[in-house]
Amino acid sequence: MPLGKVWLVGAGPGDPGLLTLKGARAIAECDVLVYDYLASNAIVGMAPPDCEKIYVGKKAGAHTLTQDEITALIVKLGLEGKRVVRLKGGDVFVFARGGEEAAELRAAGVPFEIVPGITSAIAAPAYAGIPITHRDHNTSFTIATGHEDPTKGYSSLDYAKLANPQQTLVFLMAMGSLAGIVAKLREHGMPGDLPVGIVREGTKPTQETLVGTLDTIVADVERVQFKAPAIVVIGNVVNERETIRWFDNNPLFGKRVLVTRARESADEFANKLWERGAEPVIAPTIAIGPPDDPGPARAAIANLETYAWVVFTSQNGVDACFDALRAEGGDARRFGHAKVAAIGSKTAARLMAHGVRAEFVPADFVAERVAEGLLERTETGERILVYGAQEMRDVLARTLGEAHRHVDAVAAYKTSHVVDPNLASLAESTDVWTFTSASTVTSFVENVPGAGDLAQTKIVACIGPVTANAALEHGISVDVVADEFTVDGLILALEGAHAIR
Ligand code: SAH
Repeated sequence: MPLGKVWLVGAGPGDPGLLTLKGARAIAECDVLVYDYLASNAIVGMAPPDCEKIYVGKKAGAHTLTQDEITALIVKLGLEGKRVVRLKGGDVFVFARGGEEAAELRAAGVPFEIVPGITSAIAAPAYAGIPITHRDHNTSFTIATGHEDPTKGYSSLDYAKLANPQQTLVFLMAMGSLAGIVAKLREHGMPGDLPVGIVREGTKPTQETLVGTLDTIVADVERVQFKAPAIVVIGNVVNERETIRWFDNNPLFGKRVLVTRARESADEFANKLWERGAEPVIAPTIAIGPPDDPGPARAAIANLETYAWVVFTSQNGVDACFDALRAEGGDARRFGHAKVAAIGSKTAARLMAHGVRAEFVPADFVAERVAEGLLERTETGERILVYGAQEMRDVLARTLGEAHRHVDAVAAYKTSHVVDPNLASLAESTDVWTFTSASTVTSFVENVPGAGDLAQTKIVACIGPVTANAALEHGISVDVVADEFTVDGLILALEGAHAIR
């Protein structure tokens, strides 16, 4: 039987981007994922589809295993020869019982690796604009637990040592014992006006920060009902937030944003939203698949070198072309002397990734303008291949044909509407809806009964006027239309919109 192995992986504090590369690799290759109540579904979602996922949770009310049961479980799986990732929030050795799990694995003879994670003790303050050290304020920091073993009945924390204003104090699990901690620190001479920052759900779009002083913080927490899980930071570094607050400043911060575009292109958009502090909710309304009749596209690829120009209208077309070439054992050389046009810089970049430089890159798919550009570059009778979506409007082919070019406009792929029973509730629970093509709107409306009425309470953002018109035709009021028809343009327009501020 193969010898198993257990990776104790720190998932980081919540923002999935804070997972380490090594952790991501371990998760992508594991047989079993054993995970806690975690910050991020996105990280659990990185496990392979056939991976067994075992939730051992630790959230009040949920059915969970005890620590001994968790340790026994990972030892058993390791002994069975499985590749196991034991995923924990933050770092595995910062108040996370990773040391105990590692010791048991060693005792049972199961090999293991430790993959440290970014601890919330440092990252949550950082995302609140609070540096854990700063030359002007402190030369050390202490990370302590506010939740000591309740069976002990006394505090093993040395408050005389902790009570040093030149040191930053960070408490985890301290919301229940905050009043006691503050009282002890005051007793040992810490000044009442020393700043205290509390950060809950740090690094997540739901992050909240409360700032007070040792004298005020207990009442402040009570007043706003500030809840765990949170990090308590005590020290003058907290004042730096006024200057370097960044994450929760963006107008998109904390907004739940529905991404309706196809799965293939959703991730890039979602990552950009994360960067702005928004929470992307990916719900593809359209799917890219093979065209109804793949014959013409196949024939066009077989005769690629007979065309004077090959026009790609989207990244999907580029992917379909190279998939087809690869299936025939061919590659980019099959373009021969054919010149290439790519509509939009993204399409051109995708071609470049396959080693093909586009000679003509019109910025948008305005058929008349693309036709004009191609007419300037071709002679009567020359052959032009337009390799695009099945539902492509035929204006381009017609205009070129009228000018006596020989045009083959073939369907390389088809976008079809998705039926998703969850879409209506996702639409309900998000603040912003985004549409990046008319087809995303039509499919959305089919999936969400009463979309028009619901839209009144949402911010609706469209990538361009054609998409916006489609929304209006379906009774969806539009709040934001991008000036530049890209996801960057869409995000910029959203950030600038009065509606969202
Ligand atoms: N190993 C974890 C800590 C586990 S103890 C780490 O390194 O981060 C659980 C405590 O961590 C919580 O009670 C809370 O105090 C803190 N915590 C974890 N994630 C947090 C987050 N995203 N924001 C604020 N506090 C967090």
